Amino acid sequence: MTPPAVAVIGAGIAGLACARGLFGAQKPVTLFEKSRGLGGRLATRRVGRMAFDHGAQYVVAREPALQDYLDLACTTGYAQSWVPVAPGLPRLEPWIVGSPGMSSLLQPLAAGLDVRRAVRIVACQRRVGEWWLKTESGDELGAYDTLVLAIPAPQAFDLTRDLNDGFEIASRLGAVKMAPCWAVMAGFPERFDTSADLFKAEGPLTWAARDVSKPGRRSPHDCWVLHASPDWTREHIDAKPSAVGDALLPEFEKLVGPTPRGPYLDAHLWRYARVEQPLGEPCIWDPVMRLGVCGDWCLDARAEAAWISGTELAKKVLAGG
Ligand code: FAD
Repeated sequence: MTPPAVAVIGAGIAGLACARGLFGAQKPVTLFEKSRGLGGRLATRRVGRMAFDHGAQYVVAREPALQDYLDLACTTGYAQSWVPVAPGLPRLEPWIVGSPGMSSLLQPLAAGLDVRRAVRIVACQRRVGEWWLKTESGDELGAYDTLVLAIPAPQAFDLTRDLNDGFEIASRLGAVKMAPCWAVMAGFPERFDTSADLFKAEGPLTWAARDVSKPGRRSPHDCWVLHASPDWTREHIDAKPSAVGDALLPEFEKLVGPTPRGPYLDAHLWRYARVEQPLGEPCIWDPVMRLGVCGDWCLDARAEAAWISGTELAKKVLAGG
């Protein structure tokens, strides 16, 4: 008889931390990830010889277990400490970035795990005590004894609202609020002079960072990531990426001065970027349905919160009750 297995939907830091905890306790676990890459919002977009960390910019660890993991990632070459030129910006703990890109940061965490990439789960059903998953291409996957949703709360809401007995979980998920963020990737043929590598601002742009100031980036180009504010993003949620780049470049120039002509510009919409109204507890676990939900949105808008959430959910799954 095969041992009871766990399906984890989502291979961001929460899903990987949860799966790692289960795997370490010999629990068979399979992750399903809709993208071809791992890491979710810890992401890197590569375009020719340019690369942009267009999601999370750096990770800070206050939890000793995450600190240990980041140390491991640094000693194995998957991460380094980033010290940008940013006069006046407080920096209490080391800022750790993936190397050569943010998406590399989770490689050691994913090592040895069974991750099925490019598989989007569009529905889940509990039948006679077993979980079955339906993929976008119409396949049915199962049977799993336990299901973990390690995805943003609004997406977990969509997967749980039609479940028998899923009403309570769906209503808790429905109370979580997440803000969107347009991220612009701006590449210039060569480095231009600025007073800093990092600007925080108020207005349409809240963040502009020189990606090539991060360690391990070898691009000959000058690559910047610009993050729009939640308000600006909401006002422009249906805009085309090219229009977003064109609209935010002048805002960027207000911070750095004139930039070289003819930049590469693209934009990515993070529809669920940062939590505004968190759940207020580390995760959701229903021992009767054997259904768990985790993610940064449980606690805070930071990668560390996602790690804590996934790790805590693994403990609850293993404890069973
Ligand atoms: P995610 O990373 O969103 O992972 C969820 C995964 O599930 C994704 O890979 C997704 O593709 C997958 N998925 C979703 N639905 C399905 C489905 N139906 N089927 C299969 N797979 C699915 N945090 C920091 O600590 N420092 C920062 O500087 C920072 N800056 C940020 C800047 C931006 C613009 C954004 C967007 C976020 C930032 N964050 C930052 C927050 C940080 O990125 C998140 O807290 C963290 O990455 C969330 O991890 P997660 O695993 O909970 O979710």
